Amino acid sequence: MATENWQQSLKDSISTPEQLAEYFRLDPAPLRQVAERYPMRISPHYLRLIEQPGDPIWLQSVPDLRELDDAGLVDPLGEEDLSPVPAVIHRYPDRVIFLVSSSCATYCRFCTRKRKVGCRELSLSFKELRDGIDYIAATPEIRDVIFSGGDPLLLPDPVLADLLARVHAIPHVEMIRIGSRVPVTLPERITGKLCQILQRFAPIYLNTHFNHPRELTVESAAACSRLADAGIVLGNQTVLLRGVNDRPQIIADLFRGLLKMRVRPYYLHQMDLVRGGEHFRTSINTGLNIIKNLRGPVSGLANPYYVIDLPGGKGKVPLVPDDVVREGDRLLIRAASGELVEYSDKVD
Ligand SMILES: *Cc1c(COP(=O)(O)O)cnc(C)c1O
Ligand code: SF4
Repeated sequence: MATENWQQSLKDSISTPEQLAEYFRLDPAPLRQVAERYPMRISPHYLRLIEQPGDPIWLQSVPDLRELDDAGLVDPLGEEDLSPVPAVIHRYPDRVIFLVSSSCATYCRFCTRKRKVGCRELSLSFKELRDGIDYIAATPEIRDVIFSGGDPLLLPDPVLADLLARVHAIPHVEMIRIGSRVPVTLPERITGKLCQILQRFAPIYLNTHFNHPRELTVESAAACSRLADAGIVLGNQTVLLRGVNDRPQIIADLFRGLLKMRVRPYYLHQMDLVRGGEHFRTSINTGLNIIKNLRGPVSGLANPYYVIDLPGGKGKVPLVPDDVVREGDRLLIRAASGELVEYSDKVD
């Protein structure tokens, strides 16, 4: 089969410390140290977005010695305990994560699953995928199957189409979700042919992963447009990252820009307690402050839930600024402007 453009782009990615060191004229030794533990890859598109060392695109994609700090938990989400079969994470009764791929177009330095993605030994076998499908088929509570990984859209079209068809054919599965960063890091992957495949398995909800306004490129906008035109409902999950996007103005620009691209901000994630990712973590206060600044000044459609995934597999919890104040019998609610407004409550 002929190599598609996007597959060629993957081959043209920077995937060794030596290539990266040469491109930016860096010392390869520290890069090599990090790359021995965690995978590295930067797609040609994402590489072109880097303007200078230490900028928000660089921070997300270039290996950093701080990743070798051992602070942070190993499996913050307790995902292993929630896996009835290796390819499935089943935490909530009616929906599962289906791990279909272990590679990504660019390896994010802050990735929660960074000890898993990109590892050849951990990539799923055909049998494990079949076991995953069998589990979903045998569990009638499951309505919602979330294709994740790694990046599901790095699978070749025929493999992806086959998995989608098998899951779609299960009578109790009402919808399929796909989590993919490809619209950000490898927009050329969103081909007309791919959109035609996805269209066959409606309803499909695709959550992508933009973290910074500089990622809102013409190419990414066109990719999102192709998906939206094919009837795919687009959402976005942003991870709050220290030094990358932890300021209210950056997040407001990002979320407004996403809405212009027909992508609805779905979650703003508090950075997980992940080993090698501690330098990216912000305080909860930083996140709450960002949420406060969005409310009111920015379209309600650009106000996602700010969620924290609790350690130990306890699940996601939305965090909201505390806006209800009780003073004796009086109930006061803080308006977006900061003003406290008295509200006469109903007695149940
Ligand atoms: C986040 C998550 C989901 C999806 O949760 P929604 O809030 O429905 O988007 C499903 N399963 C697991 C294990 C998750 O971590
Ligand atoms: S694309 Fe997602 S799964 Fe892949 S490295 Fe980035 S955060 Fe992790």
